[in-house]
Amino acid sequence: MGVPPTEREDFFMATMLIDGQTVAAQTGKTIEVRNPANGEVVDTIPKGSASEVDAAVEAAAKALPAWASLSGAKRAAFMHAAAAKVKAAVPEIAKLLTLEQGKPLAHAVIEATRVAENLEFFAGFADKLRGDYVPLEDQNKFGLTMRRPVGVVVAITPWNFPLTLMANKVCPALAAGCTVVLKPASTTPLATQRTIEIINSVGIPAGVLNTVHGPGSEIGDALVSHPKVNKIAFTGQTETGKRIMKLAADNVTRVTLELGGSDPMIVCDDADIRRATAATAIGRFFNAGQACLAVKRVYLFEQIAEEFMAKIADRARKEWPVGDGMKEGVKMGPLHTERQRAEVESQVADAVKRGAKVLAGGKRPEGKEFEKGWYMEATVLRDVPEDSRMATEEVFGPALPIFIVKDLDDAIAKANSSVYGLGSSIWTKDLAKARKAAELLEAGYTWINDIQVAYDQLPFGGTKQSGFGKEHGIEGLDGYLEKKSVVLAY
Ligand code: NAD
Repeated sequence: MGVPPTEREDFFMATMLIDGQTVAAQTGKTIEVRNPANGEVVDTIPKGSASEVDAAVEAAAKALPAWASLSGAKRAAFMHAAAAKVKAAVPEIAKLLTLEQGKPLAHAVIEATRVAENLEFFAGFADKLRGDYVPLEDQNKFGLTMRRPVGVVVAITPWNFPLTLMANKVCPALAAGCTVVLKPASTTPLATQRTIEIINSVGIPAGVLNTVHGPGSEIGDALVSHPKVNKIAFTGQTETGKRIMKLAADNVTRVTLELGGSDPMIVCDDADIRRATAATAIGRFFNAGQACLAVKRVYLFEQIAEEFMAKIADRARKEWPVGDGMKEGVKMGPLHTERQRAEVESQVADAVKRGAKVLAGGKRPEGKEFEKGWYMEATVLRDVPEDSRMATEEVFGPALPIFIVKDLDDAIAKANSSVYGLGSSIWTKDLAKARKAAELLEAGYTWINDIQVAYDQLPFGGTKQSGFGKEHGIEGLDGYLEKKSVVLAY
């Protein structure tokens, strides 16, 4: 069945990885993966079905006992070796990522490198997993706690940061002794498949790492409902997360859900406007605004509002050149799909119809080079009504709505009015204000005077309809381990 991944030399012929073998779909069906910069076909992937899902889960279940009982040091050694191979392959992986996703090549390089870093980070834990000795009331007994792998993990990832979000799941799972069936988004499977094959090629036993491809709407249910799956690690839209949570309930399968967000940023009257606007621009326009953690609503104190708006509009116009991600100097690629751009455009149109004013962008860039891709300019709007779609929905694109507030209480109340609770930030020199915001903003993360960058060392995850469960940090590993109690009588 197929060619072992270590012997594969072709680059643009993606397959699935099931039980250590690269395989096509049994049906022979494929899906085209297209370049968002020009609509051209980059490659095809097999369109998996429920039977491949079953084969992958069975392979993962079969491989589990041996992988779980392998010493942590050996699992760590595999992961360190994989990190070195991924690092060496960064240029190749990054190119694939840009071609299928649209992001600038320099940013794809950062993302591919993050996989190697994540492998190293969690490899460091693999040989340090231990439990506790617990004295009990009974004299002739004592208690122990053990940390056991949760089992077979289904990891489902979106298209915006395909590699980072894959690594956030695969790396802690491998370190913990779990086996994995990964389903990437069907518009961005290529860099992920290639990376998984590289990780697998260091000698990780067959069945520990598997991939299946296909639209979530078609193979998602089979994955989520499979009785041999012990955990689902999902990143994607809130609506999809709700469906997964409902289906997972049937087998009481545990879930972690990293869902949508609408991160507020509060800028107080004493803020450093130069730094705050720089962080806002990166927070909103990086990855063409298609990031879960991103500055998605800005709340300005009146005193600094005009200065802030002038500067952020200036940055949007001058500092975010749009173009094909393969071109030198481009900072913002196209949006990922035509549908994604249409969605953001309709959110902007809704705000404008209700009285918002466009300070920068608000349209598609003009010129022949932009005709075939899903491009949009970096966009800033003021006077955005608080009941408009840009305020109440997640804006997953390069468009920033700005609101003006009376004081910190007003800002926090408005920031918290969203159904989401992923990231948040505040800019102030007043520690009392900063502390109040850190305590009261309903979010999994609050940055104070800093750009919204997630750290490996800190747990990351949402509250409210942004989901639950953590990735990153030691807490990211906890999600793949079960604590078991043992009583020993003597
Ligand atoms: P999506 O929910 O459409 O798809 C995500 C993945 O789920 C894809 O692999 C898709 O094929 C699969 N899927 C779709 N329907 C499914 C089903 N019924 N059962 C099982 N799997 C199914 O999300 P998207 O549009 O790819 O990603 C964008 C969203 O992801 C945004 O809302 C963004 O905020 C969110 N996101 C969240 C985080 C986070 O960490 N909180 C990070 C990145 C992106």
